[in-house]
Amino acid sequence: MPLHPLVGHHTARDRVLRAIQEDRLPQMILLTGPQGVGKQRFALWVAQALLCDGAAERPCGICQPCRQVLGLGHPDLHWFMPVLRPKASEPDKQVEELAEAIGEVIDERRKNALYQPQEGLAGHFAATARLLQRRAALTPAQGRRKVFLVGEAERLVPQESSPEAANALLKLLEEPSSDCQFLLTTVDANRLLPTIRSRLVPLRLGRLADAEVETFLASHAGLSGADLRQRVAGAGGSIGRAVALGDDQAKANRAAEELLKAIAGNAETRAERALKQGSWAARGDFTAMLDALADALGDAIRAASGLNARRPLLQVLTRNRPVATLLEAQQRVTEARESARGNVNPQLLLAVLADELAEVL
Ligand SMILES: [Zn+2]
Repeated sequence: MPLHPLVGHHTARDRVLRAIQEDRLPQMILLTGPQGVGKQRFALWVAQALLCDGAAERPCGICQPCRQVLGLGHPDLHWFMPVLRPKASEPDKQVEELAEAIGEVIDERRKNALYQPQEGLAGHFAATARLLQRRAALTPAQGRRKVFLVGEAERLVPQESSPEAANALLKLLEEPSSDCQFLLTTVDANRLLPTIRSRLVPLRLGRLADAEVETFLASHAGLSGADLRQRVAGAGGSIGRAVALGDDQAKANRAAEELLKAIAGNAETRAERALKQGSWAARGDFTAMLDALADALGDAIRAASGLNARRPLLQVLTRNRPVATLLEAQQRVTEARESARGNVNPQLLLAVLADELAEVL
């Protein structure tokens, strides 16, 4: 599946294209801006513009290099994102392991271009610097230059291990060979090592317009109506945030569904479910689940009153129940949600709620 189109950032695009035309694009660019506004997608677009063979407008989107970039398969495009620290002890093995891990992430991104930031422990390590250095030393495979994209660059941790690796990376950025273009991205330039930051020319990508997020979600995430509006309102001009909201919502819905199944069982399954509830640390998940449950009951109430043809979100609630019963259940969930704001232990709260709902439903 090719990458989804780049959204917004028209001023920045114009600036970059002009600079490319006039052959004065800085060799090392730092793209900064909020999470999820498409900084790495923008960097891929710049790579496409640089590697494009099209005679007229760049990037043309149809020449072979353009299609290779869009399929994340251009041999002169080197995309580095944070991955887990290699486990091997030998440096060469570490580099191999890292290259493999990056390859796997790129495969994933080919399948699903709407990815979330890499997990917390992932980073750019000494092996990353070595791999970068090796690839920078290669002759371009196809065109005149190689493009290096380093995503979430604030996770560069060159000081952690061998100082040679840190120095190698700095040297690479200090005296880049003329056929290398570097594009680093970060949410916060201040979190980069000053020695690295000082070598980069910043380009700011701001939040997207709500209309841009909306159009994108409508055509690429299959959303519409109230769902779509809600997602756009919570996204703050970030497509990544809008997608994450959907993931969080799906997680809360699954938890609510699971809870209802436990409630439909017996006292034992209810107690078991309550005990499984994490205590304080997971309070956000707990309240999200209660919200999802209250929403699902709201859907079921509307369906039971003939107000809404939409099938209730949770399977367990598709069985017909009297409106009064559902209202009673929703009331109990709302009360539990209120108590969850205070200092009540979630396990205890859930044990009581599960028994109440078992009685009502
Ligand atoms: Zn092209």
